[in-house]
Amino acid sequence: MNFDFDADQVAFVARVREFLAEVREWPDADDIMCPERESDSILADTPARRAFNKELARRGYLGMSWPKEYGGQEKPGIYEYLLNEELSRVGAPLIGKGVGCVGQTLIRHGSDKLKAEFLPKILSADVEFALGYSEPHAGSDLASLRLRAERVEGGWMLNGQKMFTTSAHFADWYWLAARTDFDAPKHKGISLFLLPMDQEGITIQPIETMGEHVTNAVFLDNIFVPEDYLVGELNRGWPYICEALDYERFTFYTYSPLEEKLKVLKGLLGETKRNGERLDASTEVRHGLARLTADVQMAKMLQRRVIYASSQGRVPTIEAAMCKLYSTALHQKLADFAIDRLGADGLLHKADPDAPAGGKWEWSYRATALDTIGAGTSEVQKNIIARRELGLPLEF
Ligand SMILES: Cc1cc2nc3c(=O)[nH]c(=O)nc-3n(C[C@H](O)[C@H](O)[C@H](O)COP(=O)(O)OP(=O)(O)OC[C@H]3O[C@@H](n4cnc5c(N)ncnc54)[C@H](O)[C@@H]3O)c2cc1C
Repeated sequence: MNFDFDADQVAFVARVREFLAEVREWPDADDIMCPERESDSILADTPARRAFNKELARRGYLGMSWPKEYGGQEKPGIYEYLLNEELSRVGAPLIGKGVGCVGQTLIRHGSDKLKAEFLPKILSADVEFALGYSEPHAGSDLASLRLRAERVEGGWMLNGQKMFTTSAHFADWYWLAARTDFDAPKHKGISLFLLPMDQEGITIQPIETMGEHVTNAVFLDNIFVPEDYLVGELNRGWPYICEALDYERFTFYTYSPLEEKLKVLKGLLGETKRNGERLDASTEVRHGLARLTADVQMAKMLQRRVIYASSQGRVPTIEAAMCKLYSTALHQKLADFAIDRLGADGLLHKADPDAPAGGKWEWSYRATALDTIGAGTSEVQKNIIARRELGLPLEF
């Protein structure tokens, strides 16, 4: 079995690393590359990060897997994964929401008008999207969503509430799922729409999470959406959302941050002394680090299985579920291990000048819970594995 990348892929990674080394020299590099900013590396919420995305676009890193007729390069999806692996290693904004979830869906199912309006802007990094799926009563059971889209002359009238919409406070456009048929079975009455975020009738309320990642509740009050901003076919939103989620699980869950965190933790435990002894001199710490090293390799292999399944033309649903379940839990395990070994000092907040490693591990302890929830909770991943890999019956 050979898990190596081919020569072109290896050369591609080298070019990305060179580019990121150049960005390291930019005056605002610390605002772009924030490996310590847990859980929000997909965001581009500052002028520096937006400028970085424009540079990614200029260098041809956006839309690599798109067909040439839409400005893409028709490269296999692995290149987008490899790019994200390197971006997440340094904590830079990841690609995916625009070129992946929105772009890929528009290419496959969007009208010529929507393609012409949005695809060039995605390729040039001139548009930010927010994804509006979850609602107060529809998270894991997303197909129960209730935000109402009613037919009116010339389009649709939207009313209702979305929950946990990340980026809503700075995105330009809302990619939103709404119920268009209340009588059909729940998976068959959902449609996707595109609407500008900055309009009267849309109210955005920030939700602070314990990991300091800000997400939002969004209220829509009589929002008119013209007919031609319906994405694809009416009542076909559910399969489109599932396709986009598969893309998200493929490209977003990179393993490189685990590798980097382990390196940092190993260094920290080596330089921290207790009773005159290095922490990593104790058998317990040495064995713990050895165990974590094996775990990180395990996460890498699970990730490689996702890539392999995709390269064989399969939708890697089960592989991606295993990878997300395992690697998000491992992020928590690394933080637990660090906090336990650092003792009471490890609990100091990053605002405290005495916090070891600038408070990174205390923050990590709080923030790593978020990834076990977003894009499908750990229980949902277990359900996928139980049902599709093990063939076990549904529990209900
Ligand atoms: C930081 C963050 C960012 C997010 N960003 C976005 C975004 O941009 N856009 C968006 O639309 N959504 C977003 N979400 C929402 C996210 O997708 C949902 O939080 C997630 O799907 C869980 O839904 P819920 O919060 O309603 O919890 P629920 O579905 O109500 O689950 C509550 C608990 O019950 C468990 N549970 C539920 N069903 C089952 C079951 N069948 N079997 C066993 N256990 C079960 C869950 O695992 C969980 O522990 C974000 C969430 C977070 C935390």
